[in-house]
Amino acid sequence: MHQDLKRLKQRIPLLEYLYRHDWKSHQISDGPEFVGLCPLHEETHASFYVNAQKNLFYCHGCTRGGDLIRFVELSRHLSFRESVAYLVEELAPTTQLLARAAAFYQLELHRHREGMDYLAQRGVHDAKLIEELGIGYAHGGNVRAFLQDFGYSLEQLLAAGLINPQGADTFCRRVIFPCRQQDRVVNLYGRSIGHAFPHRRLPRSKGGLFAWESVRHLRDLILVEGLFDLALLWQAGFRNTTCAIDTHLTPTQLAQLRQDPNRCVYIAFDQDENQAGQNAANDLLQYLDQAGLNVRLVDLPAGHDPNSDFISGATAQDFARLLEESTSL
Ligand SMILES: [Zn+2]
Repeated sequence: MHQDLKRLKQRIPLLEYLYRHDWKSHQISDGPEFVGLCPLHEETHASFYVNAQKNLFYCHGCTRGGDLIRFVELSRHLSFRESVAYLVEELAPTTQLLARAAAFYQLELHRHREGMDYLAQRGVHDAKLIEELGIGYAHGGNVRAFLQDFGYSLEQLLAAGLINPQGADTFCRRVIFPCRQQDRVVNLYGRSIGHAFPHRRLPRSKGGLFAWESVRHLRDLILVEGLFDLALLWQAGFRNTTCAIDTHLTPTQLAQLRQDPNRCVYIAFDQDENQAGQNAANDLLQYLDQAGLNVRLVDLPAGHDPNSDFISGATAQDFARLLEESTSL
């Protein structure tokens, strides 16, 4: 552990890290010391010193100092362990790996009919939308070889959850949706087209609400639980739809909905026979209502989710009527 940390700090020099995060400084008389405004507290007079040889910082204003890991702890409000994980990620970003995997799956979609067939069966037929959402297909063949060509090790692919210990593609025979956050792929969602458990995500955060960048400025949002619901609503012109990728919202996703206090959220979760979707929708309704938002429940026909509703013949006008007839607390 100690050796690993030492190596980590050698691979990311403190000064380089600070520059990458927009710290402006000047060198003190050609020596190893640099000085600039403190990134940890508000100040107008430069009192933040970095010694590039020792890889240490000290601020005379807020009297805090230490090494790179200490700086990450203080600046990002992370624990020691979280800071180390953050820096490891900074070195070899998993997001880049996921973006490459997503690009591979996107190509595979057009090489194997069953992926496109499945999309058609789920009502997704707009080629531009498929492209825009970055939808792909994992045929199960050679994602490992493809990614290893980029220099990724088997350990990295395994750690990311893209392959299993036997080296096989964990998304085998799944339609893939990349989950993006500010243009970075943070996770992949795979819908089984065969008999495997329907839903699969990588063992990491699902990130914020789906396609948040494209809807965050809108006041009225439709919230769905599945990406096929989102795809069909977008296809029908309801571009103000976002998706939580299941019914449980993360603190980040809840905070996003609450960003605009005047927001109106239409919850259009599945109408399951076991009431799971309805219960989750009710809990969310209570929570957002208490936060002062205008929240409405969309009452889909029994046994339906937005995806199946459209497949069984509902039109955009039908769905617009459901929005109008939606109920609040
Ligand atoms: Zn300071």
